[in-house]
Amino acid sequence: MGMIRLKNVSKFYYSKGIIASGISKVNLDLDVGEFVVITGESGSGKSTLLNVISGLDSYEEGEMYIEGSETSHYTASDFEDYRQKYISCIFQSFNLVSSYTVFQNVALAMQIDGRSPEEIKKKVPEIIEKVGLSAYKNRKVSKLSGGQKQRVAIARALAKDTKILVADEPTGNLDSVSAEGIVDLLTEIAADKLVIVVTHNYDQFRDHATRVIKMHDGKIVEDTGAAAVKTAEEPAHVTGRRSARAKKTDEKQTVSYGTQLRLGVRNTFNLPAKFLLLLLVFMFVVSSVSAQYVTVKKQKDTVSEQGWNDYFTNYDPKRIVVEKNDHSAFTRSDFEAIENAPHVERLIREDMLYDSSIYIENDEFSFYGFMLSTGDLEKEPDLGSMPEADNEVVLAGYDDGWTFGEKPEALIGKTYTVTSNDGSEHEIKIAGIVLKEMDDSDGYVYSENSEIYLSDKMVTEMRKGLYASNSKTTMLINGSEETLFAGEGGLMINDRVPEGYILLPTSYDGLFEKGYAAGNEVRVRVHTLYYDEELKLMIMGTYGEKTFEKKTGLTDLSEHDGEIYINPMDYRRLYEKGCYQVSVFVDDTKNMDGMKDMLERGGYHVLVLRDHIYNFMNQELISIIQLPMAVFICLAVFFIAYFVIRLILKSRGIYFATVRMLGMGKKPVCRVMRVELILVCAIAYALFLVFIYLNRIGIVNSASIMDHLTYLTLRDYIVLAAILLLMAVLISARFMRSIFRSSAMGVYREEA
Ligand code: ADP
Ligand code: MG
Repeated sequence: MGMIRLKNVSKFYYSKGIIASGISKVNLDLDVGEFVVITGESGSGKSTLLNVISGLDSYEEGEMYIEGSETSHYTASDFEDYRQKYISCIFQSFNLVSSYTVFQNVALAMQIDGRSPEEIKKKVPEIIEKVGLSAYKNRKVSKLSGGQKQRVAIARALAKDTKILVADEPTGNLDSVSAEGIVDLLTEIAADKLVIVVTHNYDQFRDHATRVIKMHDGKIVEDTGAAAVKTAEEPAHVTGRRSARAKKTDEKQTVSYGTQLRLGVRNTFNLPAKFLLLLLVFMFVVSSVSAQYVTVKKQKDTVSEQGWNDYFTNYDPKRIVVEKNDHSAFTRSDFEAIENAPHVERLIREDMLYDSSIYIENDEFSFYGFMLSTGDLEKEPDLGSMPEADNEVVLAGYDDGWTFGEKPEALIGKTYTVTSNDGSEHEIKIAGIVLKEMDDSDGYVYSENSEIYLSDKMVTEMRKGLYASNSKTTMLINGSEETLFAGEGGLMINDRVPEGYILLPTSYDGLFEKGYAAGNEVRVRVHTLYYDEELKLMIMGTYGEKTFEKKTGLTDLSEHDGEIYINPMDYRRLYEKGCYQVSVFVDDTKNMDGMKDMLERGGYHVLVLRDHIYNFMNQELISIIQLPMAVFICLAVFFIAYFVIRLILKSRGIYFATVRMLGMGKKPVCRVMRVELILVCAIAYALFLVFIYLNRIGIVNSASIMDHLTYLTLRDYIVLAAILLLMAVLISARFMRSIFRSSAMGVYREEA
């Protein structure tokens, strides 16, 4: 039994409906130690025979045995395994990676074989020495002469260290001196391998070949010198070969992940022009995908600026309602941190106040505005002056001709009555007016953005009722609990009641056995969303019709029927236990997501009002149009990129055919490609980020790009990176599929 045995093997070529015979009914036995030369005129089937033997081409009839086992049932991948294990190829056209150095080309064969870096480092120079190219070790193959290239090809075959070495016209492109050197080398190698050489130039090999096979018309017409070698060496080789084979099968190694990565990185950069072209393509991908991303986001943004919300009266789209995650009160450092954060236009501490609006009206003028403190005023009034007295206010609104009427200045000094949340009425006087500029740069104006600025005293007044009406107040008196209404007709403040005391109407006297309540203790409990507070108070007495004026300083009991009075300090203890909820206004809705992220990271619970607005236009409707549009464009970008990349990397076909010829499997080959595209994509993305950074710090200045980019938050950048990564992976997968569609040999044929 020989290394290779062909029994009646035929190979046909089908092209354009015509069947051509490559080889027909070939019988052949080849073994290690032979230096076989196949000759014959052109078209006689030499190459076909060689390709069948080396598993590069399939055969249609007969049977080929490899070390005794049949191969007619072999699949393409079986033949790939076979080639990796047994075959080293040397071609007329060299098939080296011309952008790699001599060293890298030789090392590649060993890397693909999964050899250790140390072994590679040690063996490669020895092999290069053997073929006499030590001086050119680090030269790129593209810069070598034909003879030198063929030596590299032989060195690579030696590095692969297989039992069979096939060479198709290895001297075909060489001058006679170079050819002689190659023949000598092959002869040397043939001592312990099976070397099969195809040549039409038999003279060059005449003195060295141990066996000569002559072909004509697809058939072997002459076979000389076979027997002698075979019989003499067979026994020794059978055993030696078996053990070698067993060993190789057990440790079937492939190229390591590290090597795949290194090859990918090397391929990325070793052809600078290609790299730049690829980079350009990926910059196109990065910019168009990010533009689509921003468009979708921006669209959502603009849409949600239009609408209304039921829970917060002030649904300014720039507003974020903030509380602390642990529901504790805001401290001074909380305020400072938020106020000093970038893009915070304004922090409103009396945030509940901001949701209650004041409506003032008389025959000529009506105004509706959100309550703020004069401390929050950002500029001096445009008309009138800053308030001085406690009841003086400043109105702020758009200068649109109807908010303040035709003549706003006429309103200065006018008085109006406002009713607070708890029903109490207050007189106010307009001291000044702030005329806000119509800001329709966003194409939309939050039209109800009018404010009324009140003195601190007024704010306290308004707040009192507000807080009380947003909480539940109960009083525990002599064992019974009753719910108090805070505000007019319920729990009120009164300066005449000392701290720690409570003044009740006479009706409470009846609750006590002795007939009077004074001197007893009550507990007032306040329950809010954020806290519970309880205060023990001493009943200072009760008031009746006669004592009401004296005890409270108020007149007209009928208006105050059933009211309970406590000291303002106690009232504050119950209701003003700090600030639990604030509102932050961002300078631009673009920064909304960034602000939300930042606050959430800072330990705050955030409600972006904009997201809770009911839209005129259904949000889903927008995503029905916009999102598929963006996806469609991204797909188009994907295919454009894919085709351009395929053009740029056309020559990669040869590279991948070469590494496959050397036995690299499909998966590692794909990974090498993936590394390259991901790397280029990452570089393109990094450049994109640098560009954004330059824009941010003002070196590059493009307002429209900036306008787009400010919509992106850290999360968006990560999502964008993931999308691009996915695209790079898919492009490489598609590209590799097109590469693998034809066999390694097919790629060479196409190129030839
Ligand atoms: P040689 O290497 O001796 O010149 P080949 O093995 O290349 O001969 O070719 C043998 C026969 O097979 C020729 O008749 C050739 O025309 C035919 N042949 C070889 N390759 C192909 C192919 N890819 N498609 C069709 N016919 C082919
Ligand atoms: Mg040929």
